[in-house]
Parts: sequence; structure tokens; C-alpha cells
Amino acid sequence: MRKIKAEIIKYSKMLNSRKLSALRSGNISIRYKDGFLITPSGKKYSSLNYKDIVFVSIDGKFDQTKGVPSSEWKFHQDIYRKKKEAKAIVHAHSTSATAVSTHKRSIPSFHYMVAMAGGHDIKCAKYATYGTRELSKNILIALKGRKACLIANHGQIAFEENLSKAFELAEEVENISLQYITSLKLGKPKILSLKEMKKVLSKAKNYKRG
Ligand code: 13P
Ligand code: ZN
Repeated sequence: MRKIKAEIIKYSKMLNSRKLSALRSGNISIRYKDGFLITPSGKKYSSLNYKDIVFVSIDGKFDQTKGVPSSEWKFHQDIYRKKKEAKAIVHAHSTSATAVSTHKRSIPSFHYMVAMAGGHDIKCAKYATYGTRELSKNILIALKGRKACLIANHGQIAFEENLSKAFELAEEVENISLQYITSLKLGKPKILSLKEMKKVLSKAKNYKRG
């Protein structure tokens, strides 16, 4: 358990150092036993300690005396419940993804790398107050057939089979968002057809990462 907590702390600090989320925004979790380990609510990542990482059971129970889990534990819980392949989740208020999310826009196939999120576009979940079950429901809709989505007027979320991959996917979503914003400055980008995106999606399955 200490090793997993150490991994969560390492990547939480990287939310700050890699400029994915400033100060205490965002949160990270890893599936663990019959639940998940998650960052605490409202704590600066720079001062995170082992004892701050909270265990939440898959049915949403946690021991308050052992710390307060992230206010977003409900969407972490629902993703682990609905997506068996999800082993780690990264939620970030990264600047470019958040900027696109404030326009309630999905990111279309303006670049083939959009397929890294699992489909031909990156959807934007409808806005709801942070920490609510309503937000969690909206996120699950946007994550249908996807491993990442934007969250309207809020940020982005990515899950994967381990934390290193989930973090990389969140970085990719941020990069794609910045490219999309830049592309829009030149006018309306040409969108790749569904046929082209399907080719990328089947190729991406065999893509080896170094
Ligand atoms: P927590 O500190 O409670 O995880 O909140 C951060 C956040 O990003 C809420 O959406
Ligand atoms: Zn947030």
C-alpha cells in the first residue's frame, strides 16, 4: 500500500511541475483492493504525505478519521465501477483543456492524435457542480467508448491501466487542446473523416511506447 501511495504522491507533485494543474486543483487515484486510494481534498501537492492519501471502498465508504478524500471521489468511484479496465485516474485543470471546456466544445478529429483518447473525438461532459453525482453521470456519458474527456467549465479527466499511462494521456489531452486552440486561430481546421480515424484507431492498438 505504501508503494502505491508513494506513486500517487509522485504524480500529484508532477501535476504542479508539469503544469497540468496548479496548486491544489485536480486529483489522482489508483484502484486498490475493493476500492481505490485517492488524494485528499484541498491539500497542496507540495506538502502531501502518505497519511494524507485516503482509501475509499468501491461502494463509497471511507473512514473520516483517516482523512478527507478528494471532493471528486464520486466520479472516481463511478469510473472504477463502470470501467473495469480503469486502474488509475488523473483529473486536471490544465490550461488549454480547461479553455476549450469553457466553450462546451468537443475536440473533433482535427489531428489524428485525438484517437489516443479512444475514439474519433474527445467529448466535453456537461457542466454540473464539482463533487456531485450529477457531474459524475455527465462524465460517464462523455467517457462512453473513451479513456479521456473534457469537463465543461472545469478541466479534463483521463484514465488508463496504470498511473503512468493515465498521466501521459492527460498530458496528451492538454497538448491536443493547445494545438486545437492554435489551429482555430487560423480559421476552421480540416477535419479527418471517420474512415481515416478508424484506420488510426486500429493502428493505435498496436502502437508501442518506448
Ligand atoms: P479536491 O482538492 O477536493 O480534490 O478538489 C480539486 C478539484 O479539482 C475539484 O474539482
Ligand atoms: Zn477539478
